[in-house]
Amino acid sequence: MSVYHITYTPSLSELYLYFGGSTSGRGSPSGNSNCNFSCHGCISKYHPQDCHLAHEVLSHEQSREAKDESLQIEQVLSQIEPLSIKSVTFLGKEPTGDSDFLPLARILKTRFSSHNTLLTNGWEYVGDEVIDEVCMSIKAITPTLFEDWTGRRGPERVLENFKRLADCKRIKLRAESLFVPEYIDRDEIKKIARFIATVSREIPYRIDGYIPFGIKGGSTSGDRFRRPTKEEMEGVKIVAEEYLQNVSILYKGVRVKNKVEKIC
Ligand code: SF4
Repeated sequence: MSVYHITYTPSLSELYLYFGGSTSGRGSPSGNSNCNFSCHGCISKYHPQDCHLAHEVLSHEQSREAKDESLQIEQVLSQIEPLSIKSVTFLGKEPTGDSDFLPLARILKTRFSSHNTLLTNGWEYVGDEVIDEVCMSIKAITPTLFEDWTGRRGPERVLENFKRLADCKRIKLRAESLFVPEYIDRDEIKKIARFIATVSREIPYRIDGYIPFGIKGGSTSGDRFRRPTKEEMEGVKIVAEEYLQNVSILYKGVRVKNKVEKIC
């Protein structure tokens, strides 16, 4: 089991399970599970804690906290026992690579009748009956860009899995991408939105602003890419809206509507 971080939104009874810690149990910081991608500026690596946590909770030190401890299934269940749970989101460093992901999803579905959502990079297809919703992160469509960003060849595999999920009517499907100024830019987002529209114009699509690593005192030293401006984010949203009916953006400064608490 490699859940290393749990957060909860009380007003919505939503639970977030972050995968990617040690596979050898709490207090045994060895054998970190790895994602099947190696993205530049990986958010799970550089910002391992839930970015929706209040500022006082998500201090700079905590955001850099090492993810070297993980919870066994029983420990996860014990941590969440007092909570009322309607929905669970599985995220972090690619849950599909963790052998306990589906068993845990199954337990939560049985125990809480939870609506289970998987956040994935789409490299693996997961159409299991205990998964109700999938949010697929489409990193890029242009092969060279996809390989350069993720370290993997062949965006077609992700796109095929996206289409397969869309065919699986039981599963609610959404998509998201990272907007990286001067890199995964308006043209690439346009291509992604156009692809999604070939599947369905109604699929919700969220565009996240890139968060550089190595931020020190407001600068972005250490990263060759920068954070997009509000105007750039609003501009790229308009581009995607040429193809899709439900586009949203997330970037620094957007207010969190519902309070998020740290469970562990
Ligand atoms: S897919 Fe996500 S977790 Fe994996 S390397 Fe990329 S950003 Fe990190």
